[in-house]
Amino acid sequence: MDTAGFYAAEGTAYHEIAELCVMHGLDPADFVGLTMRADGHDIPITEDVPRWLERGLERIAQLSEGAELQCESRVDLSAVLGKGEGGRLDIGIINRTRRLIVVFDWKFGAGVPVQASWKDEAGAEHPNEQLALYGWGFAESAMRRADKLCGDEWTIRLIIEQPRAQGGGGEYDLSYFALEEEIERIGFEAAKTNDPNAPRIAGHVQCKFCKAKLASNGGCKAHSDLVLSLADLTDDDIAQAQEDDVYPPLPRVPELSLERLAYIHSCSDMLSHFLNDVQGYLLDRAKKGEKVPGMKMVRGRAGHRKYKEGVAEDAAAVLVEELGEKAYQPQEIISPAQAEKLLGKEKYSKIKQFVTQDQGGIALVSVHSRGEALRPTEDLLTDDDVI
Ligand code: SF4
Repeated sequence: MDTAGFYAAEGTAYHEIAELCVMHGLDPADFVGLTMRADGHDIPITEDVPRWLERGLERIAQLSEGAELQCESRVDLSAVLGKGEGGRLDIGIINRTRRLIVVFDWKFGAGVPVQASWKDEAGAEHPNEQLALYGWGFAESAMRRADKLCGDEWTIRLIIEQPRAQGGGGEYDLSYFALEEEIERIGFEAAKTNDPNAPRIAGHVQCKFCKAKLASNGGCKAHSDLVLSLADLTDDDIAQAQEDDVYPPLPRVPELSLERLAYIHSCSDMLSHFLNDVQGYLLDRAKKGEKVPGMKMVRGRAGHRKYKEGVAEDAAAVLVEELGEKAYQPQEIISPAQAEKLLGKEKYSKIKQFVTQDQGGIALVSVHSRGEALRPTEDLLTDDDVI
């Protein structure tokens, strides 16, 4: 299966549900059980989807009260990024009373957490570039429609809602004046990429979907060098290990500094993408008939058995004849989420006492991520507990 395509299609389907809920006041729970067709894929809408949408929809409702809301507005970015450049923002809100412009972006990816802002080496905070551009484009078009709408006294709020990625999402406010300064910087950086000899700067965000990684001219050396450097390896180390028929020597984890380990951790998604790319690329070459040294193609485990389309009733008749009642699965009680939907919030309180919910695992995420930092276990001990 084309997994990248499927994940993108999932995002398209969830965006569509979110838009329908915002524009027509629908309840995301009403989509549960449906299958939505998006970008050539069938996307089943599970009980998780309303849960993922809940917080974002609430925030949009809160911020759009008494304000003008626009969905899927096209923003023209040609003045910053060059001719024909632009994009489509998920939600734009203009609140004239509060002098607030909000740009809200859903991100449904679960892999790389994306934040609304980031800090440079000097500790200065900057907005997420994509959202800054959308915020600027949206504010510009609002200004064109209502003369002098914006100015330094307006606040631009950038919001990313990324419900499936731990540590993803967040909000960042800046003045329109500060936004203009950021746009100048982004435009300057973007112009550098037009130089065909511009140096390639690899990183886990920009390289993730870049096709240059696997280009037929040998791929991108900057990217493979970065991957190798994370494991303190060079091309020569790999060549030597290959010659000796051993695994390349990886550094021992406790011997690396916490800074180094934290950096490697922040790149873990890129490393797993690299391994997936290697696997996919080799399989592709093998399918085309090329010999991959030391490897062969085999078929994986057979999938789950299922009844053929249109004959499930015939199968049921045979099973009932043979097994009687045992032909059917036992009745199951509905889940707490389904119960809440059917009962409504008030009656649901009657069964809340019987419901439990996992707290969620503990993970290390960027300090700029949304969510309160947990205290280390040692801090939770009282003096009496410490021996
Ligand atoms: S793979 Fe290479 S060309 Fe693509 S973003 Fe990374 S460094 Fe740049």
